[in-house]
Amino acid sequence: MGSFKMWLANFMRGRYGNDDLNKFLIIVTLVLIILDIFVRWRWIDILTVLLLIYIYSRMFSRSINNRYAENQKFLAFASKFRRGKGAGYGNAGGGFAGFGGGDKDHKVMRCPGCGQRLRVPKGAGTIMIKCPNCNTQFQKKV
Ligand SMILES: [Zn+2]
Repeated sequence: MGSFKMWLANFMRGRYGNDDLNKFLIIVTLVLIILDIFVRWRWIDILTVLLLIYIYSRMFSRSINNRYAENQKFLAFASKFRRGKGAGYGNAGGGFAGFGGGDKDHKVMRCPGCGQRLRVPKGAGTIMIKCPNCNTQFQKKV
């Protein structure tokens, strides 16, 4: 078991890993799998397989910048819904920033354009960051 962990850590080095978009897609996949028990539509099976392929290809991807850009787009998209509910997500130091700045896989930094807090994957090297709020692009070593 210990050697498997070592192998996995080695395997995942330099690869993108999991992010918010993947977590969301995994939930969607689980919902589809459950739905599949009740309704017998063939496209659900196909969609589930396609989603799983997409999730795994993102997790093991070495194109960290591309995956990161996708995740930022997803977060910007998701935050529109959260703002609609009046939660004030991402503003006034609320939302994830309330945890005191990221977790072991993420780092929180401020956008030089508008001061928006951005969560970026840690240890990815130098990446292009695009602010979902004001579209400012900047490079940062994380
Ligand atoms: Zn900004």
